[in-house]
Amino acid sequence: MQFIPAKTIISGYADNNSWFGNNYNMNIYKGCCHGCIYCDSRSECYHIEKFDEVRAKENALAIIARELQSKRKKGVVGTGAMSDPYNPFEKKYMLTRGALELIDRYGFGVSIATKSDLIARDIDILKNIAVHSPVLIKMTITAKDDKLCKIIEPNVALSSERFATIKKLTDQGVFAGVLLMPVLPFIEDNEENIKGIIEYACKNGAKFIYPAFGVTLRQNQRDWYYQKLEDLFPGLKEKYIKKFGNTYECRSPKGNELWNLFRGQCDQLGIHYKMVDIIKLYKKGYGYKQLSIFD
Ligand code: SF4
Repeated sequence: MQFIPAKTIISGYADNNSWFGNNYNMNIYKGCCHGCIYCDSRSECYHIEKFDEVRAKENALAIIARELQSKRKKGVVGTGAMSDPYNPFEKKYMLTRGALELIDRYGFGVSIATKSDLIARDIDILKNIAVHSPVLIKMTITAKDDKLCKIIEPNVALSSERFATIKKLTDQGVFAGVLLMPVLPFIEDNEENIKGIIEYACKNGAKFIYPAFGVTLRQNQRDWYYQKLEDLFPGLKEKYIKKFGNTYECRSPKGNELWNLFRGQCDQLGIHYKMVDIIKLYKKGYGYKQLSIFD
């Protein structure tokens, strides 16, 4: 893995962020080799050349330590938006683990999005952080079936392994759930898939499922996705073009139907799915300012 120079790794403070209540954003790695066919982070607007090659920021832990020490406000550090913090290199280099140790040491919370079962390695530190600050783990799962998962997310843990990881986390008291997005039109937007994900999430102790019934496509990401559709799902590219043209938000034609099904099932099983409830729950008891607007 290559190391690249970086001046900063953690963003400036954002109050009341509507995206899971993150206050800071952290990207230790650049690029991702998990190969998801729908990946938005490879879009041209993010300017990440050779997206499939993972690079790490030089002296990452020293920069993170300096940045956390200098923050005037404590808050939740989000990671996993632009590349998976648990890529295969993390096993050896342990930069995400090192960052979590610093987050713990300096009294911050953390919110992680990943598709990797490697996160279970760091349960010990996540538990330490939860003693003083909020911890939220979002395991992205889009396909109930492992065979389909292997086709659309080829280089990372299978869906069944991700569900098992949620169980490991929640068994240890770590607040974790499912990020059910994207739900690919004509591939994953069916009752069987959505019901199956809800059922497995519930069985494995997920505290929440946050869905989006569709996919967003822009610039070169669309070209990449369409090429993958041609290779893996013959005939689907044409169906997408006919249905969505060049629209950015490609909402599933079954979106309303699936949303009603999803909501009914989650209500029945007591699984949270509204952003406001998820934020309130994982920050509960930590005295964060955000609570006051939801209580
Ligand atoms: S894990 Fe996330 S960042 Fe990595 S390829 Fe998949 S969607 Fe993209």
